[in-house]
Amino acid sequence: MKLNANAETVLKQRYLIKDEDGNPVETVDGMFRRVAKAIASADALHDKNTDTEKVEALFYDMMTNLEFLPNSPTLMNAGRDLGQLSACFVLPVEDSMESIFEAIKQAALIHKSGGGTGFSFSRLRQEGSTVNSTGGVASGPISFMKVFNMATEAIKQGGSRRGANMGILRIDHPDILKFIDCKADNTEITNFNLSVGLTEEFMKAAEAGKDYDLVDPHTGKMIKQLNARTVFNKIVDAAWRNGEPGIIFLDRLNRDNIVPEQGKIEATNPCGEQPLLPHESCNLGSINLTQMVKEENGSRVFDWDKLERTVKHAVHFLDNVIEVNKYPLEQIEFTTKQTRKIGLGVMGWADSLLMMGIPYNTEEAVQLAEKVMTFITEKGRQASQELAQSRGAFPLFKQSILPQDKPQRNGTITTIAPTGTLSIIGGCSSGVEPVFAYVFIRNIMDGTEMLEVNPILKAELEKRGLYSEALMRRIAQEGAVSHIKELPEDIRRVFVSTHDISPEYHVRMQAAFQRHTDNAVSKTVNFSNEATRDDVAKVYSLAFSLGCKGVTIYRDGSRDEQVLNIGKVK
Ligand code: ADP
Repeated sequence: MKLNANAETVLKQRYLIKDEDGNPVETVDGMFRRVAKAIASADALHDKNTDTEKVEALFYDMMTNLEFLPNSPTLMNAGRDLGQLSACFVLPVEDSMESIFEAIKQAALIHKSGGGTGFSFSRLRQEGSTVNSTGGVASGPISFMKVFNMATEAIKQGGSRRGANMGILRIDHPDILKFIDCKADNTEITNFNLSVGLTEEFMKAAEAGKDYDLVDPHTGKMIKQLNARTVFNKIVDAAWRNGEPGIIFLDRLNRDNIVPEQGKIEATNPCGEQPLLPHESCNLGSINLTQMVKEENGSRVFDWDKLERTVKHAVHFLDNVIEVNKYPLEQIEFTTKQTRKIGLGVMGWADSLLMMGIPYNTEEAVQLAEKVMTFITEKGRQASQELAQSRGAFPLFKQSILPQDKPQRNGTITTIAPTGTLSIIGGCSSGVEPVFAYVFIRNIMDGTEMLEVNPILKAELEKRGLYSEALMRRIAQEGAVSHIKELPEDIRRVFVSTHDISPEYHVRMQAAFQRHTDNAVSKTVNFSNEATRDDVAKVYSLAFSLGCKGVTIYRDGSRDEQVLNIGKVK
């Protein structure tokens, strides 16, 4: 197997089955066999005579060759008692104590099983409004969010990871200004990502500098007006300050809602890539594009045949996950199986561009992104249509907005996840993000340092006889390959990292993938520390005009403790 040392470490620490003393009782190979077997077993539910061992071998090979990996809960829980396999959930929060605390309980059960939850708090009446039953005063969405946050804090997910949440509030909620600023102190509400739910109406009002209505969610009455541009600028200020909140475009999520008769989409999963109906869940999986590159006539290109095969098997795999999944609640099982959404995406995009010698921040890269994602979504759809022939379409297919001539097994096919952990296992760059840094210096316990170099850069430098440890230390210090003047021009141009890329190119790449993705794209638009509020505002407008479903930005150094630091030891 091709796993690198980091992958081995992550798997041993967090994924392998352990005994009571915390020692692994399975090997990495054993884990992949466990997962392949559990997921392949779904085939027998459709056809008793099927050769599940063959399917198992296929799934096993695809994972151990690091061509495709399912989301973390599938790797952790498949074939085990817990058996909860999905990463993404959305839960409803209605304007009642019963509903609020029911949602907290349901979220607790989901977090325990490794999933992440998203909520819209837009239905909760605003702070200070009256509560009929007691004559008291309502605390409003933000104070309830703090209760959700504390509950999450208290639950350790079987020792593997702490829970993650998304909290969304509509722009026309009376508490919107408090929401925009509620993470100004970033030690608060730490288990939540926040997004403001924007409407097209609001965006138009902001552009025109007009007022818009704030609506009491309880009575539906307009209670006040605010200037849309002023509020838009407040969102920009807050995001500039420390990256929170992000924004999502609600009308766009609902234009792609495949079953509008079931109600509106109001929320997404924690990282924003998966819009879902209340009580719906979705399982994700990612194709490692670095494994889809081949040599041809002395240059490197995508192996489209291999990609097509991988997409087909991945769709098969993810549909099987829906079948063998043990859902945390009956209602979630029911809602999920009504649409059978899957979220197939990619990782290693930036690395595969490096392999092909294409700089991330070029027109060529943006066009290739469109081509790759068009191909994956198209082939994924075909695979799902083939599955429908033997397994049937998803139950709400007839009610859905999908073309009715070709029944499909799955309501949605594609989603681009962050692949935070999967990309470590896959040994590739995460999702569709550029490479953050090419060299890390890791401190090892006894005081020694270990250099960790991007394998594609290393191979290229070695090929040209340019590799040295001293050079790697300089790259680590400078934080970028492009700054090293004595390196050949083509290397400096191709090996760009996050901060060499303008925010506009970050957005254009996100938009290129979004145009051909059923669900949404997880992407952070990175700004340098010197970026202005105006730069942020421009990117928001650009994302809106290019058809993105949301934007998350981050300005370098704007949080005291950021996860990744350029040039600094991790
Ligand atoms: P992975 O690489 O572990 O499969 P991703 O980074 O791709 O996960 O995240 C995909 C989704 O998984 C997130 O949007 C979220 O729904 C869920 N998720 C990620 N991290 C957590 C966490 N710590 N707790 C709960 N859910 C999580």
